[in-house]
Amino acid sequence: MSGIHPDDPDYKYLCVDRKALMQLQTVPFDGKKNCWVPDEKLGFVAAEIQSSKGDDITVKTVEKMDTKTVKKDDIQQMNPPKFEKIEDMANLTYLNEASVLHNLRTRYASGLIYTYSGLFCVVINPYRWLSIYTDSIIQKFKGKRRTEMPPHLFSVADNAYQFMLQDRENQSMLITGESGAGKTENTKKVIMYFARVAANIYKGDKHCVEQQKVGNLEDQIIQANPVLEAFGNAKTVRNNNSSRFGKFIRIHFGPTGKIAGADIETYLLEKSRVTFQQSAERDYHIFYMLLSNAFPKYHEMMLITPDPALFSFINQGALTVDGIDDVEEMKIADSSFDILGFTYEEKTSLYKCTASVMHMGEMKFKQRPREEQAEADGTADAEKAAFLLGVNSNDLLKSLLKPKIKVGSEVVTQGRTKEQVLYSVSAMAKSLYDRMFKWLVTRVNQTLDTKNKRNYFIGVLDIAGFEIFNYNTFEQLCINYTNERLQQFFNHHMFILEQEEYKKEGIQWEFIDFGMDLQACIDLIEKPMGILSILEEECMFPKADDKSFKDKLFANHLGKSPNFGKPGNASKGKGQSDFELHHYAGIVPYSTVAWLEKNKDPINETVVELLSHSKEHLVQTLFVQHKEAETTGTHKKKKSSAFQTISAVHKESLNKLMKNLYSTHPHFVRCIIPNELKQPGLIDAHLVLNQLQCNGVLEGIRICRKGFPNRIIYSEFKQRYSILAPNAIPQGFTDGKQVTEKVLLALQLDPAEYRLGTTKVFFKAGVLGMLEDMRDER
Ligand code: ATP
Ligand code: MG
Repeated sequence: MSGIHPDDPDYKYLCVDRKALMQLQTVPFDGKKNCWVPDEKLGFVAAEIQSSKGDDITVKTVEKMDTKTVKKDDIQQMNPPKFEKIEDMANLTYLNEASVLHNLRTRYASGLIYTYSGLFCVVINPYRWLSIYTDSIIQKFKGKRRTEMPPHLFSVADNAYQFMLQDRENQSMLITGESGAGKTENTKKVIMYFARVAANIYKGDKHCVEQQKVGNLEDQIIQANPVLEAFGNAKTVRNNNSSRFGKFIRIHFGPTGKIAGADIETYLLEKSRVTFQQSAERDYHIFYMLLSNAFPKYHEMMLITPDPALFSFINQGALTVDGIDDVEEMKIADSSFDILGFTYEEKTSLYKCTASVMHMGEMKFKQRPREEQAEADGTADAEKAAFLLGVNSNDLLKSLLKPKIKVGSEVVTQGRTKEQVLYSVSAMAKSLYDRMFKWLVTRVNQTLDTKNKRNYFIGVLDIAGFEIFNYNTFEQLCINYTNERLQQFFNHHMFILEQEEYKKEGIQWEFIDFGMDLQACIDLIEKPMGILSILEEECMFPKADDKSFKDKLFANHLGKSPNFGKPGNASKGKGQSDFELHHYAGIVPYSTVAWLEKNKDPINETVVELLSHSKEHLVQTLFVQHKEAETTGTHKKKKSSAFQTISAVHKESLNKLMKNLYSTHPHFVRCIIPNELKQPGLIDAHLVLNQLQCNGVLEGIRICRKGFPNRIIYSEFKQRYSILAPNAIPQGFTDGKQVTEKVLLALQLDPAEYRLGTTKVFFKAGVLGMLEDMRDER
């Protein structure tokens, strides 16, 4: 690591002390004996081969000294000690699961949470604050190449920045992982990095002059996060601060490489949480923040008694969160709104709308005897909600109890049962919240959209990774579909790079685009008559239900699409499932229960109409804009709002994202959760291996092995391996390439196992290990 000196105080947080490490290595290594064998608890453990008989190999484990017999195929080769805690696992002689796990585990134990695996930067959540994000460390990574510095997110970020300046090309950083893996924390660090290294030097930003409280652009980009988190994050079982939406933040840079603006796109906010939480979970943070004692003046304005236990939409699970101080968070979010230039009215309108959701949850109804009609059971809460929403409370109740519907060309009122009314209230609350969140993002974007000249952008994607739960439903399909597309993007990118490298080196090798490996599954989900279009079609049929949806799926795909199947082995012992999909990351059983309902925004049109005439400016905006979109010229052909299904909207925004990403030079960050106990230092091997499978790291290794994964420049080969065939090398000076050629010929290596490029020799997986063994035997 030429970019950082061992005497540097930051060295110990970032680098491996190789000297000390080698001194610890006391037992001699024998490449023929030392190996990895599967272990139920630890994933793999080190062992020594004792004897073999056919396919059965007897080994003795190194730690426990147990003797056991394992199948030959279950044994994985071990890398020599010089590879311990290696920075880039692509350089391992033996690229296998066991070695990857071992390397990540040993680095993690030393506080080295970042490791490369070829194109990936893998990071394991440390669950403790490490001194690796300080200003002094930021300065060290500035302008350094990846190979000069230890693995770090800042290196990835800085490289993206340098590439952008040099190649005049947009860049992207794709940060994925499962819930709690650290995506959002890493995203924040990336943004902080750019804000530090590419700050606009003109601090006299236009906003600073206008108003004291309002921040400069870098501050504003950073402060967008607390408000997004307040409205879009919640405590879940897996993560106390879980983002319940995906986001793509683009930071735009001007001609001199300074930050010129930013914009944020969000995906799939989890609406159901607004009115429903599991025990041990919470609703969105903002509810509890508003109810905290941070600003008593707001309580009066919102007509609330500040106690979350009183509101049934938000009191179904936990009310407080370890490590989160709602008072403090409220103060931060409130001042972030100021820094972002929200007016007092805009800010308080958001608070009032949020409060109206809480009041909605308290509205009570009763069924009229012998009638298919409900009526209000007390009106105090409806009055509060209506007041905050700027509408008449009688009108609000009427639109819920007796909405108008179109029958042919006539408009008639329709009676509603208590159950239907409660459903409408909950639909109204969710729709309002969702629109509020979208508006918030649009408003933040307005602030971040300076008129400064923009040349290129770096986009940072913070989105949930592949999910395989016991019970998988519509939300999992949307996220897994997204990940299929992202993985395809990765595979395609890797394919392009490999092709380029081979071409540059003048090597003949026919690759098939690795991205195509995923096409069948993607087609099954998104093409006409695919799963999503069948779903969308069913959503428009008044008579369709979950069963008719499922029947259609089976009629169209069972036995016809290889990636589609009936519930089979993968579904055993899990929650209800109706069909299985063969994703690249594994087979996932899905249940079709409630998909039709989940995919629609079931808010009643009479309520929309009423709210679009609200006296509250914000409420009106939320609902009017929506109406306009239906009727304006360009949108005329679009289906009316009720039929703009979630899947259709998501497909569209995903296509836009992919188009954006394909126009960039991508950088891949894979976050890994080490254990499910939120504990530092503890690695749950199977959990980690599973994530390596789902997040594409093992897929990356798989496709790497299809080609010639190990590459060595000729001079290095000459230096290290000449001794394998000393007689084959002519006397006097011979250049590296000739030496390599002669050595390989003398060893009678199968020509299919290697390729000679212009500057490097390329080997198939495993060949280099063999050469190493031969070298050891000398
Ligand atoms: P979700 O999909 O639920 O939003 P996520 O991947 O965004 O999950 P984070 O919220 O970023 O996960 O991380 C979860 C928690 O893990 C953080 O609140 C923090 O406590 C801890 N954590 C994550 N990354 C780091 C880090 N680099 N250093 C210290 N702690 C971290
Ligand atoms: Mg997150």
